[in-house]
Amino acid sequence: MLNVDLHCHSNVSDGILSPAAVAQYARKAGVDVWGLTDHDEVGGIVAARAAAAAVGMQFVAGVEISITWAGQTVHIVGLQIDETDALLLRGLAATRSGRDARGRDMAAQLAAAGIPGAYEGALKYVANPDLMSRTHFARYLVECGAATSIADVFRRFLTEGKPGYVPHRWASLSEAVGWIRAAGGIAVIAHPGRYKFSPVAEGALFDEFKQLGGSAIEVVTGSHTPDQYPVYADLARRYGFLASRGTDFHAPGESRADFALLPPLPSGVTPVWHDWF
Ligand code: AMP
Ligand code: MN
Ligand code: MN
Ligand code: MN
Repeated sequence: MLNVDLHCHSNVSDGILSPAAVAQYARKAGVDVWGLTDHDEVGGIVAARAAAAAVGMQFVAGVEISITWAGQTVHIVGLQIDETDALLLRGLAATRSGRDARGRDMAAQLAAAGIPGAYEGALKYVANPDLMSRTHFARYLVECGAATSIADVFRRFLTEGKPGYVPHRWASLSEAVGWIRAAGGIAVIAHPGRYKFSPVAEGALFDEFKQLGGSAIEVVTGSHTPDQYPVYADLARRYGFLASRGTDFHAPGESRADFALLPPLPSGVTPVWHDWF
């Protein structure tokens, strides 16, 4: 059975390891087919592809695009993209552009809540200055003792209604799917079980995504609980979506599932990679 992992992050977005180091780490953990999907950025793809080849791992060029849909942040993964496509590159640059100002606003809120210096603190973890993310703030909040773990941070800070949460308007669903398809890629709804939509709203998201040319949803992901795997396998079948799988790896010990521990896709779904090799 091939270990196909189509969702993970390097330090080009909010992961800790360089693209080459993630490739080596994934290969050691038994991954055969590997996709790098940094947030809103494809700057790691060239190095990742070379490193994957060097360790004998098949590579899939990917990206995870932040969008706003019905007032919530949703992530759309693009797989098998041409990372040099001009429309995609322009769209991703526009999506990234508000992140630094947002980071300053987040830090101002944290300072008001008694945690000074969070902008500078988070910046220490940022390898790509265009891509300051809540994850970088989370690492700093753990470092300075404001929280005990990354999970603790997201329970008490940086989310709606909590200190450090700054609402942000990302790309639209149609833009993200359009950029991915323009770049020859396959659009996938990332970790659908993580959003707080009603069943009706979730159905509307799936319908609209399908109508725009979206092809797949993630079923087995480190961002789902195991009881969500059969639920989303069922939804994939009902909507005629292909099923994707990936750890959503960010750093050793930090992610919810490590490469070697993620289960295979349930039977009865068509893997998004069914016609790739
Ligand atoms: P941003 O794109 O700056 O809003 O940051 C979003 C990132 O924060 C996600 O990609 C995750 O890496 C991280 N994140 C969000 N919620 C959680 C959570 N509950 N636990 C751990 N990481 C989270
Ligand atoms: Mn992330
Ligand atoms: Mn995500
Ligand atoms: Mn992710």
